[in-house]
Amino acid sequence: MSDSTTSTDAALRTPIVAVLGHVDHGKTSVLDKVRGSAVIEGEAGAITQHIGATAVPLDVISEIAGELVDPTDFDLPGLLFIDTPGHHSFATLRSRGGALADIAILVVDVNDGFQPQTEEAIEILKRSETPFIVAANKIDTVPGWNPTEDAPVQATYESQSDRVRGDLDEKLYEIIGQLSDRGFSADLYWRVQNFQNNVGVVPVSAMTGEGIPDLLTVMMGLSQRYMKEAMEIDVAGPGVGTVLEVKEEKGFGTTLDVVLYDGTVREDDTIVVGGADSTIVTDVRALLKPRPLSEIRTESRFENVDELKAAAGIKIAAPELDDAMSGAPMRVVRDREIDDVIGEVEAELADIAVDTVEQGIVVKADTLGSLEAMSNALEEAEVPIVRAEVGDVAPRDISVASTAEDPMHEAILAFNVDVLADARTAAENQDVRIFESDVIYRLIEEYEEFVEEREQAQQETILDKITRPARFQILPDHTFRQNDPAVVGVEILAGTVQNNTNVALFDGKEPKRVGQLKGIQDAGEDVDQARKGDRVSVAIDGPTVGRGIEEGDELWTELPEKHAKILEQELLEDIEPDERDALQMYLDKHRRRDPFWGK
Ligand code: GDP
Repeated sequence: MSDSTTSTDAALRTPIVAVLGHVDHGKTSVLDKVRGSAVIEGEAGAITQHIGATAVPLDVISEIAGELVDPTDFDLPGLLFIDTPGHHSFATLRSRGGALADIAILVVDVNDGFQPQTEEAIEILKRSETPFIVAANKIDTVPGWNPTEDAPVQATYESQSDRVRGDLDEKLYEIIGQLSDRGFSADLYWRVQNFQNNVGVVPVSAMTGEGIPDLLTVMMGLSQRYMKEAMEIDVAGPGVGTVLEVKEEKGFGTTLDVVLYDGTVREDDTIVVGGADSTIVTDVRALLKPRPLSEIRTESRFENVDELKAAAGIKIAAPELDDAMSGAPMRVVRDREIDDVIGEVEAELADIAVDTVEQGIVVKADTLGSLEAMSNALEEAEVPIVRAEVGDVAPRDISVASTAEDPMHEAILAFNVDVLADARTAAENQDVRIFESDVIYRLIEEYEEFVEEREQAQQETILDKITRPARFQILPDHTFRQNDPAVVGVEILAGTVQNNTNVALFDGKEPKRVGQLKGIQDAGEDVDQARKGDRVSVAIDGPTVGRGIEEGDELWTELPEKHAKILEQELLEDIEPDERDALQMYLDKHRRRDPFWGK
């Protein structure tokens, strides 16, 4: 117990640990190995299963770590591992504006190095200023690796052949380099003196258990050295926690899985919880923890407890929890004014609130934290959000998306949530696109592809309605009819001549409309348009050959000024190079007279 605290109830709580990393890099395996080692090495029941978390006490850690840990060096009680790995749950696990996890393990596959979700995890760790170490996993896959089960990594590293060691070094330095590219000074953990300014890289194998002792030792040392102060809590004080999950539980109705990071929660407490529509004030009906496996028969998977101290994972049964949100704060009222506690919860919620605007896409996510992570990522991608909510995609979300003014906003990004059947039908009927994934970057990528496709389609429809630029010349000796309409043979010099467009020529600086195109014939067949290089006969309503137009004249399709402007400013990439040239020449001619024409 620390001398600096005077309260008799002051105690050091267990640091909360989260595991993050790219899919398949071994998050679950690392966690399982830690828990598995703890079960094997420790006394039976020495590790305790919490709701959503596993507590590994100091004596078990010291047993696993062997000579690496001297338990008398520590007074923190152990480590509490959050059971759901991944940065989604990490993002969810917030406390008072920061991360709920005090410390994190970033798992990186030595063969794969940094991958998109590694980047995402790093971003979240950086933003939340959470200290972390890197578990460089799967060292056993280095060809020729000679494993020593559950051994500390330095010993097993020394016992490899030079070639194997060299191969591993190469992979490890790759990871160290990637960390440093992202602004983290990093090194193999045994070379790190100051873990506050440097990221320690621990080579491990979740398969053979090599390096797991080191991983636990480093976590413990890091917590003890840099987090002790933060771990000092008034353990008898009113409990404070974060809702991990809102779950229907047989016999209990809607329950909350909560990670308690401060104080105590008791069976007779009144609690305040963040809800989707309003803040919930309710009385605890039961506090539940998992029943040890050996005791589970036909009765409930849970057993009741009277009270629980931080840090711990607990299931809370209480009335009126339907509206509670994953990721929301939970606070025990105890001897305080209810309004004050409501104020605290609401302030925390406001802190997480996502900025929405009048026009944008709809975002649904499983938790407040993931909603926040989504909104950060979308802000970076410059995608506006009209509505951001925790929960499954429901018909009212489709209504919102379908009324978007911009077709690019007729989309819903659904992160780790279900789409209700009637919502899916409504989306199909109303042409609202729903993107579903449990990977943020994938959702955003898919949405960006959709925007690109829609933009393309939009350009194409605009292009259909717009007059295309063209320059063509009346061929000598090709007057088939003098007037009413004049019919002449022409060669298209550039662009696309379309039927029913106006025809102009430039007389000095002045553009002059000579008539309207009333028919195009290619080798005797009627056609709608003619392209560069084509020789066709055209009927022009208006002029008389010899008066108004002459053989040899260069004619232009007259572009309405607005069309010229759209072509130049928006569609330049979408038209053919010769059309672009014709447009440029046409604009130049107009601008000789009026420099701002078409601008
Ligand atoms: P997660 O998606 O990050 O939770 O990854 P998993 O823990 O599910 O592991 C993904 C795959 O990698 C599984 O097939 C594991 O068996 C395998 N794996 C995980 N850790 C190791 C390791 O240290 N060595 C080897 N050889 N395979 C591993």
